[in-house]
Formats: sequence, structure tokens, C-alpha cells
Amino acid sequence: MPRRSIRFVVVAALVLAGCARPGHRGGSLPAGSEVYALRYGTLRNFPVASLVAGADTSRRMDIALMVWLIRRPDGRNVLVDAGFYRDKFMQRWKPADYIKPSDAVRLVGLQPDDITDIIVSHVHWDHLDGADLFPKARVWIQREEYTHHVNGTGRPLDRAIDSLDAAMLLGINRAGRVRLVEGDDQEIMPGIRAYIGGKHTFASQFVTVDTPHGIVVIASDNMYLYENYAKHAAISQTLDAASNLRAQERMGKLASNVRLIVPGHDPLVFVRFPSPGKGVAKIE
Ligand SMILES: [Zn+2]
Repeated sequence: MPRRSIRFVVVAALVLAGCARPGHRGGSLPAGSEVYALRYGTLRNFPVASLVAGADTSRRMDIALMVWLIRRPDGRNVLVDAGFYRDKFMQRWKPADYIKPSDAVRLVGLQPDDITDIIVSHVHWDHLDGADLFPKARVWIQREEYTHHVNGTGRPLDRAIDSLDAAMLLGINRAGRVRLVEGDDQEIMPGIRAYIGGKHTFASQFVTVDTPHGIVVIASDNMYLYENYAKHAAISQTLDAASNLRAQERMGKLASNVRLIVPGHDPLVFVRFPSPGKGVAKIE
């Protein structure tokens, strides 16, 4: 074969190899969704016994504050949870290494307006409060989580939700941007499903995402730390510990691999998935 032809064949082979993506044959199919944990801060010296039922009460650790981003091949950018930013929470909790959740999405080159959807796992302040930082997003929440916590005038019906966040959520609803999820095992959009999470709050949910690396489970606070799963220990804050353990077992079955279950506050996420780094962990 003439030298020039060999070079052509080698170049063509490299181009084809570059097009192929893991999990897809032939290289012509669109890639699946990518999942990232984005870190927006740290709560220092948090008592582990508040996270893992039965843990030694003397143990303390720095916990990560995260939101999770699903980048879809169709261009939709979906956040799971929205973090917090209001002064009230900043003053009370004094997070370290804090950036606004709307700046956390800039770590992967997105603008707040680029977020098309937010799936709220539950109404706690550190997961819901930032929802109004993303003015174009539809906000997905379990119907029972919404109706249990917020009345028709935006007043809180349960102390799990902060009054400011209850009013904010009503405002988003009145703007026509709330989408209520109707219970367990629901498709939010192709490749993204919501499941009831085991009573961290009245109707907390967790999310699965079909990726080229397998099914990723975004547990949020339905599994605070890897240690919950490893020790088969319920989360400390649950209205029903047995139901939470069942939810964690189910996460193990739904995930393609248990390493693809992403816990809600564990800084080890950024150790186990060190790439690309600087507060961004690609789950793969
Ligand atoms: Zn929570």
C-alpha cells in the first residue's frame, strides 16, 4: 500500500475511534446524559450522628454542600436540588468555601438561564432555597411533598420547610413553572426517573439517570453519606427508618453499580470522582 494511503487509513481509523462513545455501538448514536456533582460549599464539624443513625456522638466531619447537574444530549440542563443563598441561612450556618449555586453551574460553563429544569428532592432549605436563582427552570417536586408543606397563600404547613422558601415555591407555582410528580417510579423525561425516598421528609424523592456509564442514582438526603449504605444504617433524619433502609436497598438495585449511588452530603464524592476537579465531579 502506498505510504499516502496508509496515512489516510490511520487518520480515518482515529477519527472513527474518536466518535465512538462508551455504551453505544457504532459511534453514531447521541451520547446519554452526563451527571456532575457541583460543590457550592462546606459545613464544618457537622455531627455524624445527625447523618448516620447510631453513629458515635463524638464524631464530626466537614460535609459537602452540593447540587447535581444532568446534561442531556437534547440540550436540556437539569439540576437536582438548588442549594441555598438567602442571608438567613448564610448567617445561621456560615458555610465555608461558599459560592452561590447559580455560580456553581458556571464551573461547567453554564449560565443560570441555561438551567431548564430543577428536580427538588425535598423541601429542606439547603436543597430548595436556590430554586429562584434559575428563572427559566421548571421545578419538579412530588405532589405530596408540595401539598404537605405549602398552603394556598404560601404559608408553611410543616416546619420542615422554611417560611421564605414556602412563599418562594408558591411564587414559582403561580408563575406556572411547578410540575408536580405523581408518586413513585415516575419518568420526569426520557432517561430520568423519580422514586419515593423513604421519608426524609413527607414525600422526599431520589432520581435515577441513564448515562453511558450505567444507571446513576442521585440519592440526595435519602442517603447522606456512603457510610449509610455501607453500614446499612438509616439516615438520622427520617420519619420512618425502615422505609429509608428499604429505599437505600432499592437504590442499590436500581444503580448499575453501587459506586454510582451519589449521596447527599459526602465529601468523598469528590475523592472517588476526582475529575475534572475544583468542585466538579463527573459521575462515571
Ligand atoms: Zn434534608
